[in-house]
Amino acid sequence: MQGKQELYPKGTGPKDAHTRPGIAFYKGRPQCQRCGTWIAENCRLENGAYFCPGCLLLGRVTEFHELVTDVTPIARPKEVVPCVWSGTLTAKQAVVAIALKECLDKRQNALLWAVTGSGKTEMLFPMLEQAFQEGLQVAYATPRIDVCNEVYPRLRQAFPSGGILLRHSQGEEWGDFQLLVATTHQLLHFYRAFDLLIIDESDAFPYVDNPVLHQASRLAVKEQGITVHLTATPSRELKQKREKENWCLLTLFQRYHKRPLVVPELCFMENWHKLPERKRGLKKLARLCETLLKDNRLLLFCPQIDYLKRLEQALQPYLAQWRVTSVSARDEKRQEKIQGMREGEWDVLLTSTVLERGVTFANVSVVVLGADHEVFTKSVLIQIAGRVDRLGEYRHGRVVFCYQEQTYPLRQAIVEIKAINRKRGQEDAL
Ligand SMILES: [Zn+2]
Repeated sequence: MQGKQELYPKGTGPKDAHTRPGIAFYKGRPQCQRCGTWIAENCRLENGAYFCPGCLLLGRVTEFHELVTDVTPIARPKEVVPCVWSGTLTAKQAVVAIALKECLDKRQNALLWAVTGSGKTEMLFPMLEQAFQEGLQVAYATPRIDVCNEVYPRLRQAFPSGGILLRHSQGEEWGDFQLLVATTHQLLHFYRAFDLLIIDESDAFPYVDNPVLHQASRLAVKEQGITVHLTATPSRELKQKREKENWCLLTLFQRYHKRPLVVPELCFMENWHKLPERKRGLKKLARLCETLLKDNRLLLFCPQIDYLKRLEQALQPYLAQWRVTSVSARDEKRQEKIQGMREGEWDVLLTSTVLERGVTFANVSVVVLGADHEVFTKSVLIQIAGRVDRLGEYRHGRVVFCYQEQTYPLRQAIVEIKAINRKRGQEDAL
């Protein structure tokens, strides 16, 4: 397919393709042309040639390799791929959706800053319908596998006749597609391939602060193509870039059900890191859980996986009448457990930050243990708080941050959630 990039030993690639050196030198410094990594002096093969350590996963780029890009144009008939989504956008969602479509018409980059639970995916539908109709190549990329897995079936449902491909690990078949749903790492397979690149959750690990992935997303877009960033918590860098490069800014601070974000409550918990070994602490946590479980099921976020395992074991006897389980990135049954939680099989789910975003459950409250731990950045805390009151009727969902020290990110997360709720009020007044 056009824009698909492969690695070949020098001079062995197909002749009718676009060829670039794997490693180029700028003022004598070697740089990988696939991922943009500046290569250190010691990254050399036995024969002295440089290789790139930044994108090894996709095959080793060396001085003796070339990046060969397919340039055969895709003869894609312009056809109507109707959107069959049966829901309706709220008035504000519709304004954003039309503005996104206009950005595609004008070929202008855009940043959509939309609060968690605002219905971002649905707002893309009119723009995507337009892209299908024009025969454009589109990629929807996000750093998180769980977000891919959640968005893909929704896109398939909305555009059943569109060629949509999900890909998030190496070794899967490529096949033909018009809309690719993939992790941001997969963009390294492309060079000037997409007319429209949508990057969702660009503030999430591992995309945020990762120059390799930033380079990959830059190079995957055609020169005349556009990028649309979607985020609930834009970083300062992203906001600055938008201003400097004059992208269109779209905001939506109202959730689709029009209720405000739930403001987190603070709960002081001394030595939370020793909690699994302390009866008094466990009792206090169990009491908090019982109170919250009266109205909703519960997500219990933990900062580290071994802590999560110890806490799960220690807490079980105190919550004996409830169905308790845990999930983390290392868990082989992760998808099953997430599905089980969706279907109401579990009352309490202990989780690492793996569920911080992209996953939606009806009627949950959230407790963050060790909210002052360094893994809980401002953006992560805002995302976690956004898990509450997303689906279903209002059931007094609560967010509780348990902490020992009030860190800056912890305070800022609460300040920003309140600010978003105020902006939501201002949106209403417009
Ligand atoms: Zn590289």
